[in-house]
Amino acid sequence: MGALVTSVRQVSAAPGLSVDLTAVAANTRRFVSWARGGVMAVVKADGFGHGLGDVARTAVASGATWIGVTSLAEAVAVRESGVDVPVLSWLNPADVDVRTAVRYGIDLSVPGLEHLAALDGGVRVHLQLDTGMARDGAAPESWLSLMSAARRAELAGRVSVVGVMGHLPCADMPGASEPGKRAFTRGVEMARQAGLRPSVRHLAATSAALTDPGTHLDVVRIGAGLVGIDPSGTTRLRSALRFTAPVVQVRRVAAGTGVGYGHSYVTDRETTLALLPVGYADGLPRTASGRAEVWLAGRRRSVAGVISMDQVVVDAGDDAVMPGDEAVVFGPGENGEPTVGDWARWAGTIPHEIVTGIGARVRRSVR
Ligand SMILES: *Cc1c(COP(=O)(O)O)cnc(C)c1O
Repeated sequence: MGALVTSVRQVSAAPGLSVDLTAVAANTRRFVSWARGGVMAVVKADGFGHGLGDVARTAVASGATWIGVTSLAEAVAVRESGVDVPVLSWLNPADVDVRTAVRYGIDLSVPGLEHLAALDGGVRVHLQLDTGMARDGAAPESWLSLMSAARRAELAGRVSVVGVMGHLPCADMPGASEPGKRAFTRGVEMARQAGLRPSVRHLAATSAALTDPGTHLDVVRIGAGLVGIDPSGTTRLRSALRFTAPVVQVRRVAAGTGVGYGHSYVTDRETTLALLPVGYADGLPRTASGRAEVWLAGRRRSVAGVISMDQVVVDAGDDAVMPGDEAVVFGPGENGEPTVGDWARWAGTIPHEIVTGIGARVRRSVR
């Protein structure tokens, strides 16, 4: 009996990440009602750290009609989570396992002739044009030859061309997407001139979808927006994550006490320090040291000193803080707690990197 109680305490005394799927559902519905065409839910990187299967199922239940991922492994995981809408994988090696793609009904992107040559079995493909990223996708000068090769492969029954895709590099800057939009329109025209009939044209991700309806076309690919991140800064979306950690130790220290590695923080008065068992291995960026705050005992408090691998110290002042009290590292922000956006700013990065960087040992739960 005593042993049982002890073990339950230990389980509940770990850092935890709680995912609010009702926020994902609300964000999805918002994009579904805005989009002129359909919504592809992008669930790469474990659903932006929110759980690949959970986000995929929630998005489809809320009106998304496509799922997008970067790898065949992710696509198969989506299928195995019970989702039956079309699934597209767009960052495949040239020797991608096309039989698995066909067996699981996965669409593949085709960024060039080498990739196209390896495809067979009537696999559904999306021809991928580089619309200004100089990253993935076919270079514009190779597009014409890719179109005619794709048409030949289609006539031979090796592939079925269902889509054309592009991606915009500067969609969060007003007006900066015009060259990419023009390149994409030309690319689609060239596909038609080659005899292809792609029915799914898709170009926009979250920023473009929120700011430029002219990019919506047949489908918008939404990743960040589903989990409450708006890179365009125009729209209030709902954040789904709540990251908590229990206080595991409290101590009273004198003024002038150096805290943590390098003593970058020295107390300027007698104060109470609270220790949280969470650090950069759990996804708190070390570069946020000196600026970061957490919510503890009713208000925001400074993280004292550098963020360690497994622990941080919080300066709780003269307030009563006890072992077992729960600190909120970040949450939706509704009650004053820090947000994912705050952590991104403190660390000099973007919210995407915070949500996809939560460590494997953080206990996850779903609301
Ligand atoms: C990640 C990604 C998306 C989703 O972008 P968000 O801005 O997160 O919505 C869409 N398209 C491509 C090609 C991507 O790599």
